[in-house]
Amino acid sequence: MDEGDKAGAKRLNWPPVANTNGMSETRKLHIKSFGCQMNVYDSYRMADTLAPAGYAETAEAADADLIILNTCHIREKAAEKVYSEIGRLRALKQEAAAHGRRITIAVAGCVAQAEGTEIVRRAGSVDLVVGSQNYHRLPDLVARAEAGERVVDTEFPLDDKFDALAAPAHAAIAKRGVSTFVTVQEGCDKFCTFCVVPYTRGAEVSRPLEKIVAEVEHLATGGVREVTLIGQNVNAYHGPDAGGRPAGLAQLLRRLAEVPGILRLRYTTSHPCDMDDALIAAHGDLPALTPYVHLPVQSGSDRILAAMNRRHRRSDYLDVIARLRASRADLAFTSDFIVGFPGEREADFRATLSLVEEVGFATAFTFAYSPRPGTPAVELDDQIPREVQAERLQRLQAVIGRQWRAFNARFAGKTLEVLLEKPGRHPGQLVGRTPYLQTVQVIAPRRLIGSALPVTITEVGSNSLFGTLAGQPSTPDFAAAGA
Ligand code: SAM
Ligand code: SF4
Repeated sequence: MDEGDKAGAKRLNWPPVANTNGMSETRKLHIKSFGCQMNVYDSYRMADTLAPAGYAETAEAADADLIILNTCHIREKAAEKVYSEIGRLRALKQEAAAHGRRITIAVAGCVAQAEGTEIVRRAGSVDLVVGSQNYHRLPDLVARAEAGERVVDTEFPLDDKFDALAAPAHAAIAKRGVSTFVTVQEGCDKFCTFCVVPYTRGAEVSRPLEKIVAEVEHLATGGVREVTLIGQNVNAYHGPDAGGRPAGLAQLLRRLAEVPGILRLRYTTSHPCDMDDALIAAHGDLPALTPYVHLPVQSGSDRILAAMNRRHRRSDYLDVIARLRASRADLAFTSDFIVGFPGEREADFRATLSLVEEVGFATAFTFAYSPRPGTPAVELDDQIPREVQAERLQRLQAVIGRQWRAFNARFAGKTLEVLLEKPGRHPGQLVGRTPYLQTVQVIAPRRLIGSALPVTITEVGSNSLFGTLAGQPSTPDFAAAGA
């Protein structure tokens, strides 16, 4: 899954050559993933589900027999960006066709869900449109598209796509690395007035607890050590337990913390209203649960929170933060903010700035409000001019940037646990992550990939930290490091 669409630059490999046993050779699949972590996870699962049908992934679009654009619809012009991407792929498809090779183009994800048949109407080169709830049917849908049918499947199905998906082979897990995502919940019933998710991903659905545990056990046997549970509204998780009773996210986390090999658990993205007592308590007594919580607030102004239909006030958010901090003192927080929501006055924006100062975030994602067709906020009067949005965004980012630098700086000279994930930039280095998701370049031998070890931070750079294994010298011994 990579951004490698170097049009026409590659060798052409169609039709697939028959082996001596009469089976066709592996065909190549290129998935380009846009947007959030859930799309990254969905792309993995699409690859898993197409593997038994003979598709192996390639990073090069030009090499592929099947190209899937896994799209995101969260911000403005998402559909237009997808159409221009399809335009680029059309040139690649035509070039391949001139050499007698077929490339099948599929559009998946939230733009596919939202646009449906409009995509095949507007873009003649697209063979298949598959919605975010239907990709478990890909082997069948792709076979139909390859047989010449133009296929659109965007219904919300009654069957559970997760039941139908193939489990990843160990080689596929190893490619994902030591840390990976697992979707536990999808869709959202909150209907914030700016957001397309309830329309593109549908109503909230939680996966059964035991199925998630089985998936994580399987990932752990393949070398995964850290799992991030994902969902559009992950702390609304309420999947059935083994006895059919609804289980909360805290119960799920407690079960997963017992899975052999799993060292760390994270979850994202949470809604402040669903941060219940059980989850707050889990932060206090589950060492595997990292002390880093992403809790979007969007605005610090009660007037704007109400207009956004966020269902909580500023004081409720601050109360949740205080209760989490009381449960575990070393928790750090990140958030999402939208500036320039319709009707946002300077005083509302200042309330956002003061909330940021009051909480003190490790970092945050900041967005200028962008009108999404079909959402209620589009209809609101008093849309904020772009220049005002841009100016507020800059001011907010300046404060968040300062907090981020201060947060990182406080780790200089400190020792903290780093999960070593992969080889680093230079020989003798590995890259790992702190519990706070900071990237650390660590002098350490390759055999330690997959271990979580104490690392002393020797330098705080602008994008990464640098460190040595606690008690080790700060100059690498390349021979000993086995690089
Ligand atoms: N479920 C999460 C929550 O409740 O915060 C967030 C889901 S959304 C994928 C991620 C972020 O995108 C949101 O928190 C919001 O800050 C931003 N976002 C969503 N719709 C937006 C819009 N129309 N304009 C600007 N930012 C938007
Ligand atoms: Fe969108 Fe999150 Fe609000 Fe749901 S809770 S509507 S996903 S912003």
